[in-house]
Formats: sequence, C-alpha cells, structure tokens
Amino acid sequence: MGGFWIRIAPTGCVYGSVHEESVGALAEDAHKEFTPKVADRRREAAEGWRLELVGRDEWRRRAEPCFTGRCNHASYQGRAVTDVQLPEAAS
Ligand SMILES: [Zn+2]
Repeated sequence: MGGFWIRIAPTGCVYGSVHEESVGALAEDAHKEFTPKVADRRREAAEGWRLELVGRDEWRRRAEPCFTGRCNHASYQGRAVTDVQLPEAAS
C-alpha cells in the first residue's frame, strides 16, 4: 500500500522509518528491520518502543518533525539522564 512503518520511542519521538513495501505488513518484520536480535526486540518492547504503520500524510505530520529536530518530544537519552537522582537531593 506504500505506507511507512515508523519506530516510536517510549517518549513518543519517531526514531526511524522504513517503507512498508520493503518489509511487508507485519509489525514484527518491521521491528526485525530495525532490531535484528530477538533479545533486543523483547527489551525494546518491554521499554515501550513500538511500531506503527502510517500513510504518507501521517508520516509527514508525525515523523518528519522528529527527523528534522523540530518536534517537542523529550530526547530519549535526555530522559534517561534526568531519571538519575542528583547527590544534592539526599543531603
Ligand atoms: Zn520527536
């Protein structure tokens, strides 16, 4: 159908996309394209990463801002850092 699989971080930010034509209609196959190892796929699913099949208009609305750095999502790396307790808070 010419859609796109988009790979979405737990923060909601889109981190990758692949043509539906190249991987097929199954989310599992699209996930394999981004994450070849099954153990890594399980870990990502547990962390809240997900894949969605979207059309061209939705791709432009949801994925393009992320790829061009114009979205308002928290950075996935940045969020992991802010979860760390600062030493000052304990004293
Ligand atoms: Zn984003």
